[in-house]
Amino acid sequence: MSQDWDAGRLDSDLEGVAFDTLAVRAGQHRTPEAEHGDPMFFTSSYVFRTAADAAARFAGEVPGNVYSRYTNPTVRAFEERIAALEGAEQAVATATGMAAIMAVVMSFCSAGDHVLVSRSVFGSTISLFEKYFKRFGVEVDYVPLADLSGWDAAIKPNTKLLFVESPSNPLAELVDIAALAEIAHAKGAMLVVDNCFCTPALQQPLKLGADVVVHSATKFIDGQGRCMGGVVAGRGEQMKEVVGFLRTAGPTLSPFNAWIFLKGLETLGLRMKAHCANAQLLAEWLEQQDGIEKVHYAGLKSHPQHDLAARQQRGFGAVVSFEVKGGKEGAWRFIDATRLISITANLGDSKTTITHPSTTSHGRLSPQEREAAGIRDSLIRVAVGLEDVADLQADLARGLAAL
Ligand SMILES: *Cc1c(COP(=O)(O)O)cnc(C)c1O
Repeated sequence: MSQDWDAGRLDSDLEGVAFDTLAVRAGQHRTPEAEHGDPMFFTSSYVFRTAADAAARFAGEVPGNVYSRYTNPTVRAFEERIAALEGAEQAVATATGMAAIMAVVMSFCSAGDHVLVSRSVFGSTISLFEKYFKRFGVEVDYVPLADLSGWDAAIKPNTKLLFVESPSNPLAELVDIAALAEIAHAKGAMLVVDNCFCTPALQQPLKLGADVVVHSATKFIDGQGRCMGGVVAGRGEQMKEVVGFLRTAGPTLSPFNAWIFLKGLETLGLRMKAHCANAQLLAEWLEQQDGIEKVHYAGLKSHPQHDLAARQQRGFGAVVSFEVKGGKEGAWRFIDATRLISITANLGDSKTTITHPSTTSHGRLSPQEREAAGIRDSLIRVAVGLEDVADLQADLARGLAAL
């Protein structure tokens, strides 16, 4: 946002401050009224002092707002805050997480280019590649997330980008992001990381060598299940392409949603710590229970990539998955016996949610595809919220008793 007034003394000095301070302060610019809250700019357009001023702003010679599909001060504040938190030169907000992923591919790929995607990505991400980008001549192949030599072997001369989610949903598999970035860069490809599950509070992929980060802000960035949004963050020269696409195609973020996300970010660090603490306790407890065959949580010593998770992430996240005895019937009885936890596929909410992946989020896969993805009928996913952990444990105990 451009400032014609002398607000220097009031603007926050953010040199060298810590993550939690950036989460509260970054992107906060003050208007002449110097309000303490984050102002919401509900306007589609902006007026210019003179015709010459309008011409200069349209030409980009003078910074400033022209039209809210291009820039809006509230949206810009959110973008600047996310950029600060991800350690990105620039971030740009989108209408949803899917719009962020679409914008990345539309910005960097042309017909004839090849994209490598990890097998375990979000279902709509696979649909976007399979049903739409393939139709426009983008080649797509899938690689098991953790298999570094598999990634290396799958890269072709026309591979433009590698797309991963780490940790994966719902099984909490990881990829070594720094190692994968090296593999991509050695062959001239970009690494894009969907950082939705960790948020920058737990993982900063750009600092590990990734080129671009995407988010569904709908999840933990909002944190309370209120609205939809997304964001793309990366280096200036790459973000120029993404900004150009979004301005032209239009899936940009509403200022109201940006304002909600600014409020969400203020508590992101605290919330992620609390999500992780609750999830760790429940995962450890579940692992001790008779009715449970296996718990998938990177915070457990039994997780095959526990050491990588401890190195790469500042916390193990909110999603705990587990396999119960009794197959699908057991899993459904478990889910139906809970009274407090919401039966919904959403995550990243202060409310804990429970879902049966093989008949919901992964229900469209064939049994063979589910088997290959490790999604058993006995698998339950819990996205742990912010309720008191003893109450959550008591609710899961109801599920166990029903097995
Ligand atoms: C939800 C989600 C998306 C899609 O985001 P929307 O905001 O629903 O469009 C993408 N990636 C991951 C990992 C998600 O969980």
